[in-house]
Amino acid sequence: MRSVRSANPALETLEPYDPKYLPANAFLSANENPLDVPADVRLAVKREVRNVAFNRYPDPLANDLRDLIAEANGLDRDCVLAGNGGDELLFDIALAWGGPGRTFLNLPPTFSVYEINAQLTSTNVVRIPRRADYSIDEEAVLARVEAGDIDYIIVTSPNNPTGQLADEAFLLRLLDATDALVVVDEAYFEFSRRTMRPWLEKHANLAILRTFSKAFSLAGVRMGYLFADPRVIREVAKVRQPYSVDAVSQIVARVVFENRAKFEPGIKAIIAERGRLMNELGAMAGVRPYPSDANYILFRVSGADAVWERLYEQGVLVRDFSHAPLLEGCLRVSVGTREQNDAFLAALRAARKE
Ligand code: PMP
Repeated sequence: MRSVRSANPALETLEPYDPKYLPANAFLSANENPLDVPADVRLAVKREVRNVAFNRYPDPLANDLRDLIAEANGLDRDCVLAGNGGDELLFDIALAWGGPGRTFLNLPPTFSVYEINAQLTSTNVVRIPRRADYSIDEEAVLARVEAGDIDYIIVTSPNNPTGQLADEAFLLRLLDATDALVVVDEAYFEFSRRTMRPWLEKHANLAILRTFSKAFSLAGVRMGYLFADPRVIREVAKVRQPYSVDAVSQIVARVVFENRAKFEPGIKAIIAERGRLMNELGAMAGVRPYPSDANYILFRVSGADAVWERLYEQGVLVRDFSHAPLLEGCLRVSVGTREQNDAFLAALRAARKE
């Protein structure tokens, strides 16, 4: 055949996900940890990887890792599920709670992957946009779920790319107001230190997403996990790819998790640098940073796309949201090392003078 019939029509308007990575001296566009895994932890990983049987399939559910994470969080193993990055678990949630005839409630602007997953699974999307300051329109959300047609909701806390936490009292009201699955995406939890974990036992419809990609420097390894009621975990486990979490990733994540205290100084440094960046950005005329509890700061700046270009010409890559819906005129900078942040601030000052 010289031709091929069309793919699923649900794909027609989709573009493959493009993180828009470009080489740069200061890579501040992907909310990664600027520091890699500490040398002694890398060495421990190396020692353990040596013993992996590459010819054997891995433990499909990564039970060693699951047990470690469960124990550290005061949970049973069946309340935890590991995935190939948080991204895989988000897709699995869309498969399990979405689908044709089902409805996802989104609070844009937020992580774009949620709506891509809804589209891929032919799930209806209802949107309640955030207010001008990017706070959640809480009363509108609570009123909307009353209709009873929402199957799942994702609340990102802190929200990406805008940086704010969701209010705990609001989340508790939401969990009581609906039996929809409420996923609280805590990918940036370690930088906010605020979690819905204490409420898991009381709410069968609460799921919490975490990742090793940010605070634990493993964006390149792909490991995320979900906390939820065992009944929720069971459903998500039905749709997951059996071997999505490979044997090497299981080991790397396990060693990193065992050594998680060693990441604390780096996390503290990022939080301190976030405060410094916030002050510096706030003091620049024509720049409006939005308060952040994560490891990035969204800021609005006039001529944002030209500013992005000037920054890039000076070796600093930030994420350009200037033409994204509800984020017009905004750029997002990840908090890097002190040197990277200085390079960003100097480049921004220079760009603003031109
Ligand atoms: N949730 C949010 C809000 C994110 O920003 C990201 C990463 N960009 C993820 C989930 C998924 O991260 P990963 O797949 O690397 O675990």
